[in-house]
Amino acid sequence: MRFLEKAPAKINLVLDTLYKREDGYHEVEMVMTTVDLADRIELTPLKSDEIRIVSENRFVPSDSRNLAYQAARLIKDTYHIREGVEIFIEKQIPVAAGLAGGSSDAAAVLRGLNHLWGLDLSLDTLATLGAGIGSDVSFCVYGGTALATGRGEQIKEIDAPPPCWVILAKPSIGVSTKAIYQNLNLETIDHPDVHKMVEALQEEDYDKMCANMGNVLEPVTTSLHAEVDQIKSHMKDFGADAVLMSGSGPTVFGLTQQESRAHRIYNGLRGFCDEVYIVRMLGTRNTLD
Ligand code: ATP
Repeated sequence: MRFLEKAPAKINLVLDTLYKREDGYHEVEMVMTTVDLADRIELTPLKSDEIRIVSENRFVPSDSRNLAYQAARLIKDTYHIREGVEIFIEKQIPVAAGLAGGSSDAAAVLRGLNHLWGLDLSLDTLATLGAGIGSDVSFCVYGGTALATGRGEQIKEIDAPPPCWVILAKPSIGVSTKAIYQNLNLETIDHPDVHKMVEALQEEDYDKMCANMGNVLEPVTTSLHAEVDQIKSHMKDFGADAVLMSGSGPTVFGLTQQESRAHRIYNGLRGFCDEVYIVRMLGTRNTLD
Protein backbone atom coordinates (compact mmCIF):
# COMPACT_ATOMS: atom_id res chain seq x y z
CA MET A 1 0.00 0.00 0.00
CA ARG A 2 1.34 3.42 -0.99
CA PHE A 3 1.13 6.50 1.15
CA LEU A 4 1.10 10.04 -0.24
CA GLU A 5 2.23 13.14 1.59
CA LYS A 6 2.47 16.75 0.43
CA ALA A 7 5.64 18.71 1.15
CA PRO A 8 4.88 22.44 0.81
CA ALA A 9 7.46 25.20 0.37
CA LYS A 10 7.95 27.93 2.96
CA ILE A 11 8.70 31.61 2.71
CA ASN A 12 10.21 33.86 5.38
CA LEU A 13 8.16 36.98 6.08
CA VAL A 14 10.93 37.99 8.49
CA LEU A 15 14.43 36.62 8.92
CA ASP A 16 16.66 38.18 11.57
CA THR A 17 19.95 36.99 13.04
CA LEU A 18 20.93 38.00 16.57
CA TYR A 19 24.45 36.62 17.12
CA LYS A 20 26.77 33.78 16.21
CA ARG A 21 26.63 30.93 18.71
CA GLU A 22 29.51 28.89 20.04
CA ASP A 23 28.33 25.87 18.02
CA GLY A 24 28.80 27.93 14.81
CA TYR A 25 25.06 28.45 14.10
CA HIS A 26 23.45 31.86 14.10
CA GLU A 27 20.76 32.56 16.64
CA VAL A 28 17.77 33.54 14.48
CA GLU A 29 14.26 34.93 14.73
CA MET A 30 12.09 34.11 11.76
CA VAL A 31 8.44 34.28 10.81
CA MET A 32 7.77 31.47 8.37
CA THR A 33 4.65 30.41 6.52
CA THR A 34 3.85 27.64 4.06
CA VAL A 35 2.64 28.28 0.52
CA ASP A 36 0.76 25.95 -1.80
CA LEU A 37 3.70 25.03 -4.01
CA ALA A 38 4.44 21.47 -2.89
CA ASP A 39 6.53 18.43 -3.71
CA ARG A 40 4.61 15.16 -3.80
CA ILE A 41 6.13 12.38 -1.71
CA GLU A 42 5.02 8.81 -2.40
CA LEU A 43 6.08 6.15 0.14
CA THR A 44 5.97 2.48 -0.89
CA PRO A 45 6.88 -0.25 1.63
CA LEU A 46 9.73 -2.57 0.57
CA LYS A 47 10.26 -6.08 1.92
CA SER A 48 14.03 -5.61 1.69
CA ASP A 49 15.63 -3.54 4.45
CA GLU A 50 16.66 -0.54 2.32
CA ILE A 51 15.82 3.09 1.70
CA ARG A 52 15.44 3.82 -1.99
CA ILE A 53 15.13 7.39 -3.31
CA VAL A 54 13.56 7.86 -6.72
CA SER A 55 13.23 11.25 -8.43
CA GLU A 56 13.16 12.43 -12.00
CA ASN A 57 14.76 15.74 -11.04
CA ARG A 58 18.49 15.66 -11.79
CA PHE A 59 19.31 18.09 -8.97
CA VAL A 60 17.87 15.79 -6.30
CA PRO A 61 20.48 13.43 -4.80
CA SER A 62 19.41 9.78 -4.71
CA ASP A 63 21.69 8.73 -1.85
CA SER A 64 22.25 9.60 1.82
CA ARG A 65 22.79 13.28 0.90
CA ASN A 66 19.04 13.51 0.33
CA LEU A 67 17.30 14.94 3.40
CA ALA A 68 14.34 12.63 2.75
CA TYR A 69 16.74 9.67 2.94
CA GLN A 70 18.17 11.02 6.20
CA ALA A 71 14.65 11.31 7.65
CA ALA A 72 13.87 7.68 6.81
CA ARG A 73 17.23 6.52 8.18
CA LEU A 74 16.61 8.41 11.43
CA ILE A 75 13.17 6.88 11.92
CA LYS A 76 14.43 3.38 11.08
CA ASP A 77 17.41 3.62 13.45
CA THR A 78 15.54 5.30 16.31
CA TYR A 79 12.59 2.89 16.28
CA HIS A 80 14.47 -0.23 15.09
CA ILE A 81 12.37 -0.69 11.96
CA ARG A 82 13.50 -3.63 9.83
CA GLU A 83 11.28 -2.86 6.82
CA GLY A 84 12.40 -0.77 3.86
CA VAL A 85 10.77 2.02 1.90
CA GLU A 86 10.88 3.52 -1.57
CA ILE A 87 10.57 7.30 -1.47
CA PHE A 88 9.41 8.80 -4.77
CA ILE A 89 9.91 12.57 -4.84
CA GLU A 90 7.96 14.49 -7.46
CA LYS A 91 9.74 17.83 -7.26
CA GLN A 92 7.71 21.01 -7.77
CA ILE A 93 9.69 23.26 -5.42
CA PRO A 94 12.82 24.65 -7.10
CA VAL A 95 16.02 23.19 -5.61
CA ALA A 96 18.43 25.35 -3.56
CA ALA A 97 16.01 28.24 -3.77
CA GLY A 98 15.51 29.41 -0.16
CA LEU A 99 12.11 27.67 -0.06
CA ALA A 100 13.14 24.75 2.19
CA GLY A 101 12.32 22.12 -0.43
CA GLY A 102 14.66 19.47 0.95
CA SER A 103 13.62 20.16 4.55
CA SER A 104 9.96 19.90 3.62
CA ASP A 105 10.57 16.57 1.85
CA ALA A 106 12.30 15.29 5.02
CA ALA A 107 9.41 16.48 7.20
CA ALA A 108 6.88 14.80 4.88
CA VAL A 109 8.84 11.54 5.13
CA LEU A 110 8.78 11.78 8.95
CA ARG A 111 4.99 12.30 8.94
CA GLY A 112 4.45 9.65 6.29
CA LEU A 113 6.59 6.92 7.85
CA ASN A 114 4.98 7.62 11.23
CA HIS A 115 1.72 6.67 9.55
CA LEU A 116 3.03 3.85 7.34
CA TRP A 117 4.84 2.08 10.17
CA GLY A 118 2.12 2.77 12.77
CA LEU A 119 4.49 4.55 15.18
CA ASP A 120 1.86 6.89 16.61
CA LEU A 121 4.38 9.68 17.31
CA SER A 122 3.15 13.23 17.92
CA LEU A 123 4.06 16.17 15.67
CA ASP A 124 6.18 17.49 18.57
CA THR A 125 8.22 14.26 18.65
CA LEU A 126 8.63 14.33 14.85
CA ALA A 127 9.71 17.99 15.00
CA THR A 128 12.33 17.20 17.66
CA LEU A 129 13.62 14.33 15.53
CA GLY A 130 13.62 16.57 12.45
CA ALA A 131 15.85 19.17 14.13
CA GLY A 132 18.65 16.60 13.94
CA ILE A 133 18.39 16.63 10.13
CA GLY A 134 18.27 20.38 9.53
CA SER A 135 17.17 23.63 11.18
CA ASP A 136 14.12 24.12 8.91
CA VAL A 137 12.79 20.55 9.25
CA SER A 138 11.02 21.18 12.58
CA PHE A 139 8.96 24.01 11.09
CA CYS A 140 8.16 21.90 8.04
CA VAL A 141 6.84 19.07 10.26
CA TYR A 142 4.12 21.44 11.54
CA GLY A 143 3.65 23.71 8.52
CA GLY A 144 1.25 26.65 8.89
CA THR A 145 2.72 29.86 10.28
CA ALA A 146 5.29 30.07 13.04
CA LEU A 147 7.84 32.12 14.89
CA ALA A 148 11.06 30.13 14.71
CA THR A 149 13.90 30.87 17.14
CA GLY A 150 17.12 29.18 18.31
CA ARG A 151 18.86 28.00 15.14
CA GLY A 152 15.37 27.86 13.60
CA GLU A 153 14.20 24.67 15.31
CA GLN A 154 12.25 26.24 18.22
CA ILE A 155 8.74 26.58 16.83
CA LYS A 156 5.82 28.61 18.18
CA GLU A 157 2.61 28.62 16.18
CA ILE A 158 1.31 32.12 15.39
CA ASP A 159 -1.63 33.54 13.41
CA ALA A 160 -1.73 32.93 9.67
CA PRO A 161 -1.19 35.89 7.31
CA PRO A 162 -4.24 37.68 5.87
CA PRO A 163 -5.29 36.13 2.51
CA CYS A 164 -3.14 37.25 -0.39
CA TRP A 165 -1.44 36.09 -3.55
CA VAL A 166 2.24 35.23 -3.53
CA ILE A 167 4.31 35.47 -6.70
CA LEU A 168 7.56 33.52 -6.45
CA ALA A 169 10.42 34.16 -8.87
CA LYS A 170 13.59 32.10 -8.81
CA PRO A 171 16.53 33.45 -10.80
CA SER A 172 18.58 30.69 -12.40
CA ILE A 173 21.57 31.03 -10.09
CA GLY A 174 22.70 28.76 -7.28
CA VAL A 175 23.12 30.20 -3.80
CA SER A 176 25.01 28.48 -1.01
CA THR A 177 23.33 29.14 2.36
CA LYS A 178 26.69 28.59 4.08
CA ALA A 179 28.44 31.21 1.92
CA ILE A 180 25.70 33.76 2.58
CA TYR A 181 25.97 33.33 6.36
CA GLN A 182 29.78 33.55 6.10
CA ASN A 183 29.46 36.90 4.34
CA LEU A 184 26.98 38.30 6.87
CA ASN A 185 28.41 41.19 8.90
CA LEU A 186 26.57 41.14 12.22
CA GLU A 187 27.84 44.66 13.09
CA THR A 188 26.07 46.39 10.22
CA ILE A 189 22.72 44.60 10.23
CA ASP A 190 19.52 46.62 9.96
CA HIS A 191 17.26 44.43 12.15
CA PRO A 192 13.62 43.97 11.13
CA ASP A 193 10.98 44.24 13.87
CA VAL A 194 9.89 40.63 14.38
CA HIS A 195 7.46 41.58 17.14
CA LYS A 196 5.60 44.01 14.84
CA MET A 197 5.25 41.25 12.23
CA VAL A 198 3.73 38.88 14.81
CA GLU A 199 1.40 41.71 15.85
CA ALA A 200 0.40 42.39 12.22
CA LEU A 201 -0.64 38.76 11.79
CA GLN A 202 -2.56 38.84 15.09
CA GLU A 203 -4.37 41.98 13.95
CA GLU A 204 -4.93 40.52 10.43
CA ASP A 205 -3.41 43.76 9.14
CA TYR A 206 -2.17 43.20 5.58
CA ASP A 207 -0.56 46.66 5.22
CA LYS A 208 1.28 46.31 8.53
CA MET A 209 2.49 42.84 7.47
CA CYS A 210 3.84 44.27 4.19
CA ALA A 211 5.51 47.18 5.98
CA ASN A 212 7.34 44.90 8.40
CA MET A 213 8.75 42.27 6.05
CA GLY A 214 12.53 42.02 6.26
CA ASN A 215 15.42 39.63 5.70
CA VAL A 216 18.95 40.39 6.95
CA LEU A 217 20.41 37.92 4.43
CA GLU A 218 18.97 39.83 1.47
CA PRO A 219 21.71 42.53 1.24
CA VAL A 220 24.35 39.78 1.39
CA THR A 221 22.82 37.74 -1.44
CA THR A 222 22.08 40.82 -3.58
CA SER A 223 25.69 42.02 -3.20
CA LEU A 224 26.83 38.68 -4.66
CA HIS A 225 24.03 38.24 -7.22
CA ALA A 226 22.68 41.41 -8.87
CA GLU A 227 19.85 39.38 -10.47
CA VAL A 228 18.02 39.25 -7.14
CA ASP A 229 17.78 43.05 -6.92
CA GLN A 230 16.70 43.26 -10.57
CA ILE A 231 13.84 40.83 -9.97
CA LYS A 232 12.82 42.77 -6.85
CA SER A 233 12.63 45.99 -8.89
CA HIS A 234 10.57 44.33 -11.63
CA MET A 235 8.13 42.91 -9.06
CA LYS A 236 7.63 46.36 -7.54
CA ASP A 237 7.21 47.94 -11.00
CA PHE A 238 4.55 45.35 -11.90
CA GLY A 239 2.59 46.31 -8.76
CA ALA A 240 3.52 44.06 -5.82
CA ASP A 241 2.71 45.66 -2.45
CA ALA A 242 5.80 44.19 -0.77
CA VAL A 243 8.77 42.26 -2.13
CA LEU A 244 11.36 40.19 -0.25
CA MET A 245 13.93 37.47 -0.79
CA SER A 246 13.12 34.20 1.00
CA GLY A 247 15.69 32.50 3.24
CA SER A 248 19.20 32.82 1.84
CA GLY A 249 17.68 33.19 -1.64
CA PRO A 250 17.76 33.50 -4.48
CA THR A 251 13.93 33.22 -4.71
CA VAL A 252 12.13 36.53 -4.41
CA PHE A 253 8.43 36.76 -3.50
CA GLY A 254 5.93 39.56 -3.96
CA LEU A 255 2.50 40.01 -2.37
CA THR A 256 -0.80 41.38 -3.57
CA GLN A 257 -4.43 40.94 -2.52
CA GLN A 258 -5.79 41.47 -6.03
CA GLU A 259 -6.00 38.46 -8.33
CA SER A 260 -5.75 40.54 -11.53
CA ARG A 261 -2.61 42.24 -10.25
CA ALA A 262 -1.13 38.88 -9.25
CA HIS A 263 -1.51 37.71 -12.85
CA ARG A 264 -0.01 40.95 -14.15
CA ILE A 265 3.06 40.51 -11.93
CA TYR A 266 3.32 36.82 -12.90
CA ASN A 267 3.06 37.50 -16.62
CA GLY A 268 5.42 40.46 -16.46
CA LEU A 269 8.09 38.53 -14.60
CA ARG A 270 8.04 35.58 -16.97
CA GLY A 271 9.87 37.81 -19.44
CA PHE A 272 12.78 38.15 -17.02
CA CYS A 273 12.86 34.90 -15.11
CA ASP A 274 12.40 31.24 -16.14
CA GLU A 275 10.85 30.00 -12.92
CA VAL A 276 7.84 32.01 -11.77
CA TYR A 277 4.93 30.70 -9.69
CA ILE A 278 1.68 32.18 -8.49
CA VAL A 279 0.52 30.63 -5.22
CA ARG A 280 -1.52 31.24 -2.04
CA MET A 281 -0.30 31.12 1.53
CA LEU A 282 -1.48 27.93 3.24
CA GLY A 283 -1.66 29.18 6.81
CA THR A 284 -3.06 26.04 8.40
CA ARG A 285 -0.96 23.52 10.29
CA ASN A 286 -0.46 19.90 9.27
CA THR A 287 -2.37 17.16 11.06
CA LEU A 288 -1.46 13.51 11.42
CA ASP A 289 -4.58 12.14 9.64
P1 ATP B 1 16.57 26.16 2.85
O1 ATP B 1 15.53 27.17 2.45
O2 ATP B 1 16.13 25.24 3.96
O3 ATP B 1 17.96 26.76 3.06
P2 ATP B 1 16.79 25.51 0.08
O4 ATP B 1 15.40 25.63 -0.44
O5 ATP B 1 17.66 26.69 -0.15
O6 ATP B 1 16.73 25.16 1.61
P3 ATP B 1 16.99 22.81 -0.92
O7 ATP B 1 16.03 22.84 -2.07
O8 ATP B 1 16.56 22.09 0.28
O9 ATP B 1 17.50 24.27 -0.55
O10 ATP B 1 18.35 22.19 -1.53
C1 ATP B 1 19.63 22.47 -1.00
C2 ATP B 1 20.56 21.31 -1.39
O11 ATP B 1 20.16 20.17 -0.66
C3 ATP B 1 20.49 20.93 -2.84
O12 ATP B 1 21.58 21.46 -3.51
C4 ATP B 1 20.48 19.40 -2.88
O13 ATP B 1 21.69 18.88 -3.34
C5 ATP B 1 20.31 18.98 -1.43
N1 ATP B 1 19.10 18.16 -1.17
C6 ATP B 1 19.04 17.16 -0.27
N2 ATP B 1 17.83 16.61 -0.24
C7 ATP B 1 17.07 17.26 -1.14
C8 ATP B 1 15.71 17.12 -1.55
N3 ATP B 1 14.89 16.19 -1.04
N4 ATP B 1 15.25 17.98 -2.48
C9 ATP B 1 16.08 18.92 -2.99
N5 ATP B 1 17.36 19.07 -2.66
C10 ATP B 1 17.87 18.25 -1.73
